[in-house]
Amino acid sequence: MIHRRPAKRRRGRRFTARDECEPVQLGYAGMMLIFGLRTVIHRLGVLTLVCRNCGNQAAQVLSRRVTKFSLFFIPLFPVRTKYGMQCTFCGASYDISKDEASRLAAH
Ligand SMILES: [Zn+2]
Repeated sequence: MIHRRPAKRRRGRRFTARDECEPVQLGYAGMMLIFGLRTVIHRLGVLTLVCRNCGNQAAQVLSRRVTKFSLFFIPLFPVRTKYGMQCTFCGASYDISKDEASRLAAH
């Protein structure tokens, strides 16, 4: 009669070469994706208005900030558009709504 030792119970999975390769299956080995967000500010115009911050009647710069998703430094599609005003007297800037911006730009 051959005496066999009971099989050892393995703790967890054994780390094999196949396991090592698993995360790479998401893409080609060595491939790198460079992506991010890029914001471009467009100046829509300059208006003389009473500043919300300092209360002076001064030139206010109306601008649109467009944030685009970029892949390999190429802007692809816009993800966010914001409108803002900046006072040239005190330097304060604040966000305004799209409706307000289009109404002011029409002046
Ligand atoms: Zn101001």
